[in-house]
Amino acid sequence: MVVRMRHTRAHTANRRSHHAMKPMQLSLCEKCGSPKENHKACAACGFYKGREAVNVMKRAEKRAAKEKREKKEAK
Ligand SMILES: [Zn+2]
Repeated sequence: MVVRMRHTRAHTANRRSHHAMKPMQLSLCEKCGSPKENHKACAACGFYKGREAVNVMKRAEKRAAKEKREKKEAK
């Protein structure tokens, strides 16, 4: 080990002082009013910037079909 590579505990702690997680920033969906993550389509209605970005019903159906299929294969 080279001396140049050695870090003190204080050096390490100072570097890690910026590693804390920030709480999630949520805003309200302008269509359905449920809380949603910023810069993402609403999880409840699939709208983003006033238009439908994700078809929530179709996605739910697809997910249900997949679960059903996987349950069948497990048996
Ligand atoms: Zn919404």
